[in-house]
Amino acid sequence: MMKKLLWTLCLAALLMGAARAETTVVCSFYPVRVLAENVLADVPEVRLETLAPAGTGCLHDFQLLPGDLRALDGAACLIINGAGMEDQFLPLLRREMPALPLVDCSAGIALTEDDHGVNPHVWLNALNAGQMALNMGEGLAALLPESAEKITANAAAFAARMQALHDELTAELAGLASRDIVTFHEAYPYFAAEFGLNVVASVTVEPDEAPSPRMIAETVERIRAYPRCPLFSEPGAATDALSVIARETGQPVYELSPITDGNGAADDYEAAMRRNADTLKQALSGD
Ligand SMILES: [Zn+2]
Repeated sequence: MMKKLLWTLCLAALLMGAARAETTVVCSFYPVRVLAENVLADVPEVRLETLAPAGTGCLHDFQLLPGDLRALDGAACLIINGAGMEDQFLPLLRREMPALPLVDCSAGIALTEDDHGVNPHVWLNALNAGQMALNMGEGLAALLPESAEKITANAAAFAARMQALHDELTAELAGLASRDIVTFHEAYPYFAAEFGLNVVASVTVEPDEAPSPRMIAETVERIRAYPRCPLFSEPGAATDALSVIARETGQPVYELSPITDGNGAADDYEAAMRRNADTLKQALSGD
């Protein structure tokens, strides 16, 4: 009798396991992942994965490996930043896995163009991050209809938090003595627009690309027109060119995060934006 009951329990457990098969949702890189942690909070049976390993930074040079395609096989979707951030590997992915749904977070966001085309760093702006979460929520709700209500509510709650963050940081940065900055790579036009900063120059276009001596000289010349124009490095940045520019211009060096890495917590976006705002305050307050 006992044995029969045990078998029944085992069978029931097996069946429940099969019925509760997890859905895998893959994010292209860290900023998308942090947003997804919020949009999919408390949504059952979803496993989140991230394509780019920790330390990748932006995806400017990211190429897919065979293992990445295996990880995407059977996934419900790939969530991308869009705006060109994934352009290095999207053509290959579309060819290899034409049926994989893509959720584009930057759909409908006003994009900034510079000498190097559309700038993809849209997430470095709290209001954009809110819109990205709404886009993500819309895409995921369609793909996971049984959790649509929860996903939509999560996305709206995150967007509201982003509006609050924008208001908080805008107020915090209202009294800056100057607003001229030099950033490490060209990641901050949306951030600068949000807080009324003037990016005088960027040390390099993409983080892995060392600037030529001529580019460095031009940056030094441009900075000389500004009495106060602090330089902002990034975690893990190659600092050779930055050090030369700092030495030539006498400007101090601080660090801003492009939020392409972090502790993975759902509130890491807000924490990183607050740290960035604190750094700006330190660097640009009058004294
Ligand atoms: Zn970048």
